[in-house]
Amino acid sequence: MRIVLSLYLVLKLLIGPPLDVLVDSQRGIPEWYAPGVDTHAARALGELTAAAEMEGLKLAVLSGFRSFEYQAEVYAREMQKWPDRVDEFAARPGHSEHQLGTAFDVAWPGLPVNSLDPRNVRLFEWVEANAHEYGFVVSYPLKTHEEWPYNNRWKAHGSEFIYEPWHIRYVGRELASEMFAAGYLDPGTGVQPRDFYRAWP
Ligand SMILES: [Zn+2]
Repeated sequence: MRIVLSLYLVLKLLIGPPLDVLVDSQRGIPEWYAPGVDTHAARALGELTAAAEMEGLKLAVLSGFRSFEYQAEVYAREMQKWPDRVDEFAARPGHSEHQLGTAFDVAWPGLPVNSLDPRNVRLFEWVEANAHEYGFVVSYPLKTHEEWPYNNRWKAHGSEFIYEPWHIRYVGRELASEMFAAGYLDPGTGVQPRDFYRAWP
């Protein structure tokens, strides 16, 4: 029985995490897990990009799948720039959704993700309103709160990171629509995507 259970767990690990796996500072993904970009997520991203284009919007991918090693580089680079605040917008290696192969950072071509250029603003508004139709969610949505600075644009609140309209994650249409209907994008609610995820394995 124990062998069957171990085998089951090993198989589960080898197949990889489900689309709704929870990844945060507490629950990580194993260092060896490096699936590359998920094919379903890549196809859905293509559809999302094409739909945006129909609305006159351009969508470029600035970051997709990251290996454990690459995430370590990203974290170290951000640490150099923001030693006191790095954990509010960069995940430690082993704890980034990018390591799943289903998360992407998007922006208007030529603009950095955090640019408030109106083209980015229009793109992100459209993404928030439509991404669920293609199976995507915004992992760290805008949330307002009582204390200064009254929202999570510059300071993490309610989730581990600041508001990241550029960071989208593929979870499949069904779950994305469920989250959308639950109001996870409503700044006044405490509903977060993480409420819908499960730890792995
Ligand atoms: Zn990201």
